[in-house]
Formats: sequence, C-alpha cells, structure tokens
Amino acid sequence: MKSIFLAILIASTSIAYAQTSSSNNASLTSEVNAVYPQAQALYVDLHEHPELSLHEVNTAAKLAGRMRDLGYEVTEKVGGTGVVAILRNGAGPTVMLRTELDALPVEEKTGLPYASTVHTKDDAGHDVPVMHACGHDIHMAAWVGTATIMAQNKKNWHGTLMLIAQPAEERSMGAKAMVADGLFTRFPKPDVGVALHGGNLLPAGKVGFTPEYSYSNSDTVNITIYGKGGHGAHPETTIDPIVIAARVVLALQTIVSREIKPGDAAVITVGYIQGGTKQNIIPDEVHLGLTVRSFTDDVRQHLLSAITRTVNAEAQAAGAPKPPLIEQVESLDALYNDPKLNERLRAVLIQTFGAQNVEQLPPNMASEDYSAFVKAGVPSFYFALGVADPAKFAEAKASGNSLPSNHSPFFAPDVEPSLKTAIEAEVAVLHNLLAGGAVR
Ligand SMILES: [Zn+2]
Ligand SMILES: [Zn+2]
Repeated sequence: MKSIFLAILIASTSIAYAQTSSSNNASLTSEVNAVYPQAQALYVDLHEHPELSLHEVNTAAKLAGRMRDLGYEVTEKVGGTGVVAILRNGAGPTVMLRTELDALPVEEKTGLPYASTVHTKDDAGHDVPVMHACGHDIHMAAWVGTATIMAQNKKNWHGTLMLIAQPAEERSMGAKAMVADGLFTRFPKPDVGVALHGGNLLPAGKVGFTPEYSYSNSDTVNITIYGKGGHGAHPETTIDPIVIAARVVLALQTIVSREIKPGDAAVITVGYIQGGTKQNIIPDEVHLGLTVRSFTDDVRQHLLSAITRTVNAEAQAAGAPKPPLIEQVESLDALYNDPKLNERLRAVLIQTFGAQNVEQLPPNMASEDYSAFVKAGVPSFYFALGVADPAKFAEAKASGNSLPSNHSPFFAPDVEPSLKTAIEAEVAVLHNLLAGGAVR
C-alpha cells in the first residue's frame, strides 16, 4: 500500500514537473516566435552588409540603435567599435552575453538571394570581398532577439544584464581591446559570462557543450634562420639556411611525438617556409611561420621552449653565423569553461531542448579570443549552436562527407531553426542565471 502510494506520488510529481517544464518551454517558444521576424530581418540586413575586423562601424551603430530603443544604457566605441548595453533590473548578479561584430575577407558563393556582394579595401589597401562566413550575423541577430525578450519580461528575472558586442574576433584582438578599454572597470564586472558559436558540426535545433577546455592556447611564432649566401655551385663557400630550415621543420615534428605525454593535446604546424630567389643562389636567410596549439600551461611552455632549443641547436650544428631570431608574435589563451557553470547550464539546455538535442563535443584545437574575458576573471559558459540544415546534415553524414565549415565561401546557416534555437538557448540560460540565488 505504502509503496503503491509512493509510486503514485512519484508519478504525479513527475507529471507536474513535466507540465511546468513544457508550459515554461511553450511560453518561451512563443516569445521566440514573436521576436523572430525582426531578428530574421536584422540577420538578412547584417548578412548583406558585412564589415571587416576593426571596421565594424555601421554594424555596431545598428546594434547600438536597437539596444537604445529597447531601453538599455548603451556605450559605443569600447575597445574600437565595441558596444556595451546594460539593463539594470534590481538586486542580483551581473551576467554578460557576448556577440561578435566582424566578417571575413571571403567571396560568398552560396548563391542565396541575400548573398553578400560587398567589396572593400583591406588594411593593406587591397580590394577584398567581404562575407559573414563565420555566422557572426546569426550571433548578432540572436543577441538582439534575446535582448528584446529580456527587456519585455523584466518580472521574470533580477540583476544586471550586460550585453556586449565585440570587434575583431577574427583577428583575435577585440576582446583584449575591450578589456584594455575598461570593460570591467567602467562597467560592472560580470559574475558570469555567456557566449555561443554557430557551426555545421551540429544540425540546427541542436546545441553542444564542452566541459573545461573548449578551445586551445594559440601561439604564433616567426623564425628567421641566418646563413651565409653565395653561388649554388659553390656550397663549400656558404652556410645554407635552406638546409638548416629543412632540418628544423623535421626536428620540430618530434617535439609533439617524443616529448609530450601521449593524450596531452599539442600541435606544431609550420605554415610557411620562405627563402631564396633563384635556382643557383644560396640565400643568406630563411623565414618560417609556425602556429603552436595546446590546452594546458605546462604543455604550452614545454612546446615553446622546445622550439627555441631545437631551432638554436640546428643553427649551431650547421655553423650559422648568428643565432636565429625567434619571435612570438601572437598569443591567445585557451578558452576554459567553468565546470560548475557547465554542469548547471547543460541541465538548463537539456530541459529546454531535450537530451537528444544537447550533445557533448570534444575540445577544439582552434582558438577564440573570448578567452580574454575568462582570463580577466569572468567564469564563463561558451557553448555551440548547430546551424546546418538538418536534411543536408543527415545526407552528408550518410555519405561520409562534411558540410562547408566556418570561413568557407559556401557557409550557409539554416537561418530559421538556427536563430530560434540561439535565442531560446540564450534566454533560457540567462533566466536561469538571473532567477535569484547564487550564479555559481
Ligand atoms: Zn571565424
Ligand atoms: Zn567566429
């Protein structure tokens, strides 16, 4: 009797829970449907008018105008073209949501009616095509849609919402520039940060999460190897930097395979090797460009010091007239997802979309400058948004192909389900963080 009663109690509790959950979802879905037409129109406008990194002037002005109309306190030109929009709604935590503003020098080949035909001059003065080939237009349109729902529904949450639009993500400069321009001193420092990124690794309607490291440390290293030039027919009168460089390229490969513990992720790629002008001339220097990827600080330091040791030793072995010049020209930190936040918000996404639509994704060896906000002390949840047309995704999977990746001229998100899922996910996550109580 007792056990039957308990069973009924459990059954009725779970039914009640399911009803509350689905009615919450139903009201969120109808809010998303209501803002969708405007978000879609903004998406098309942004897609047709992309701007390169550090030149996102009109894009930033459009977003700033929308946010002002919604009642946010808006500050422009933070760290270049960055926008900060704040909505204060009583006591509670401060939660940041980021979008990026920039597009890429890619010629769009999707054939879509709203495909970009924009050309502009890049910073070197060259004519280049411009395309939102990384989906930042989806992120921006979702960001405004989310801002709209949050502003219309202030009774459902408490605290401070800080929406930021950052420039130059594609050049790994914008996040650092906003922090350097006082993002966390002129404005409230967020207790938690949230961002998403769209891609074709998941079909639209699905989201993904990655506990702990989701993007890698990225270090760019330029190397100049010095030799002694001369006639190609008289190598005995020279010190050939091309041969030294060739040895260096091969020797660098054994750092990852022989010095890094199997299972620890590490990449050393020599992206270019440039030297010489003519078949019968031995040049006096050769240039190498490397990208170096890792997740942990230990592995990162090991890779960088092993590169220095290897390059110096090869030059010395060949009797080079002077040590190589080794310059670390760019450095981006890994993006670390706060484990507690990840657990909490993964559950929110599952409740919103169902477990079948929330996938755990492996860490990615690409990099993302959102990590500058984490480094500045904002624990964060950075998650993935599927943007692939579900039918094309299934077809590609069945035939063993992959859909065009971000940065491809053919990158074409399935707009309606991508945008709706992005807005629904962002609002669900923000509501949870701003519902009262601790954020972490
Ligand atoms: Zn990109
Ligand atoms: Zn991107």
